Amino acid sequence: MSSIGPPDPIGSWESEHAARRLAEAAADRLSHLQEATAALSEARTPADVADATLAAALGMLGATRRVLLVPATPDGELAVLRAAGEPDLEPLLAAASQAWRSRATVLVDGTQAPGAAAGHRGALAALPLMAHDRPIGVLALGFDGPILEDGDRALAAALSGQCALALDRARLFQELQRAAQAQEDFLHVASHELRAPLGTLCLAVRLLARDARARGGPDMDGRVRAIHRQVDRLARLSDALLDITRITAGRLELQRERTDLAALVRDGVARVADDAAGARCALTVDVPDPVEAVIDAQRMEQVIDNLLSNALKYGREAPIRVALRREGERAVLAISDRGIGIAPEDQDRIFGRFERAVSGRRYGGLGLGLWIVRQIVEAHGGTIRVESAPDAGSTFTVQLPLG
Ligand code: ADP
Repeated sequence: MSSIGPPDPIGSWESEHAARRLAEAAADRLSHLQEATAALSEARTPADVADATLAAALGMLGATRRVLLVPATPDGELAVLRAAGEPDLEPLLAAASQAWRSRATVLVDGTQAPGAAAGHRGALAALPLMAHDRPIGVLALGFDGPILEDGDRALAAALSGQCALALDRARLFQELQRAAQAQEDFLHVASHELRAPLGTLCLAVRLLARDARARGGPDMDGRVRAIHRQVDRLARLSDALLDITRITAGRLELQRERTDLAALVRDGVARVADDAAGARCALTVDVPDPVEAVIDAQRMEQVIDNLLSNALKYGREAPIRVALRREGERAVLAISDRGIGIAPEDQDRIFGRFERAVSGRRYGGLGLGLWIVRQIVEAHGGTIRVESAPDAGSTFTVQLPLG
């Protein structure tokens, strides 16, 4: 016969208390892990990842000795990326190399730590960092206590998983940066190399054009003009390539001087007069006299040339209007065509690098002109915008501070 005794208030209080302690410890772990995840997601370089991981290992696991190792040679020899805690890292390094070779976690209780001298040494854990089934490093941790509890083991495994992901991403990011830098360097050298012979060629063709006009007859004159246009186009393309490297390296330096913007616009229009005739676009110019501004004249010429040549290129043989006016402390330049126009969803993106809104087969180009124009205008403290509708034409408006 069994009897049910009176409730045991002390026993039930103890078990309730223990359950609460367990729940609190679990919540505490989770919040530590969340903090570590946030810190790791912001880490940009492998060293940042290592710093965030070692800090988290101390904060959430109480690991007093910590080291993160990554392969330093092509045959996979490990080197310390970051270490913290006691200076004697030998036992940790021994466990780390065991974990690296076996690709499995190595757990060592306090008394058997590899390389431990006589006397008490705490527990060790060495966790291989795996990314896409590939080992990319080892996280080795040393503790003051002799054994690592189950909960802490799970937490260490979660931390090493997060660390591996962040480390892999940081390495990929560095590789991408190196590749982008190599590309920029190549572009810089290539555009420089192209520019030198093109400069000489431009000069020679200009002289040839003068001779052809004087002595060569209309046929010869026409052919030399065609060569001149193409050489100019090549020179503009190689300048655009050179500008990409300057702008992305933050080296777009302005040589500002007091300049008559009205004269600059009229000169620009005169420069494209031949091309406008070829493209059958009538040009009207509405420019007051003078509009003085402190600007980089050469760079502003580039802005005007680019906008005019786009208007001719996409203008579908319709008239083009160029207007300059002063509005308070600003100059406003508007170039309008009645050409193919630009769809609303493309009107922002065409100012981006390599962005185009036309078929490459129909219209040649690199998609760099408007990007460079915007960089130059913004470097002057100005703005550029477009109003356009497909098949109705486009107006590009540049606003520039005068002072
Ligand atoms: P590119 O002309 O070499 O493509 P741009 O950077 O000068 O490069 O122009 C980017 C894109 O903007 C062009 O490809 C074209 O789609 C669009 N665009 C620029 N100017 C005009 C214009 N006047 N009319 C219609 N579309 C234009």
